[in-house]
Amino acid sequence: MLKFTCPHCNEKTFTPLQKALAGSMKSVGKPCPNCGRKCCNGMESAYFDSIISVIMIVTIFVIYMKSDASAKVQSSILIAVIILARFVLSFLFRMFFGKLVHPVRTMR
Ligand SMILES: [Zn+2]
Repeated sequence: MLKFTCPHCNEKTFTPLQKALAGSMKSVGKPCPNCGRKCCNGMESAYFDSIISVIMIVTIFVIYMKSDASAKVQSSILIAVIILARFVLSFLFRMFFGKLVHPVRTMR
């Protein structure tokens, strides 16, 4: 099974789900099941988050500009779906891509 390496003890201890829940570099992170020290997602997921956030904002803006009064409900639903997709994509990226690192808060 796919597992991710802990940056502290170099053991493959994190499942994709645990990694996805470990948060960003600004979070406190999640403890490693082996050594108990905190790990979080590295810069790759932070970059990915900012790229998809920009795409999301641009898409919402385009939908907003193009929709007329008669399509208000449809465009609201579409915007809600796009916001949801942004979080799902962010979560999936953290599950399968990027490395685990030490959280900034506990780094010396
Ligand atoms: Zn560890």
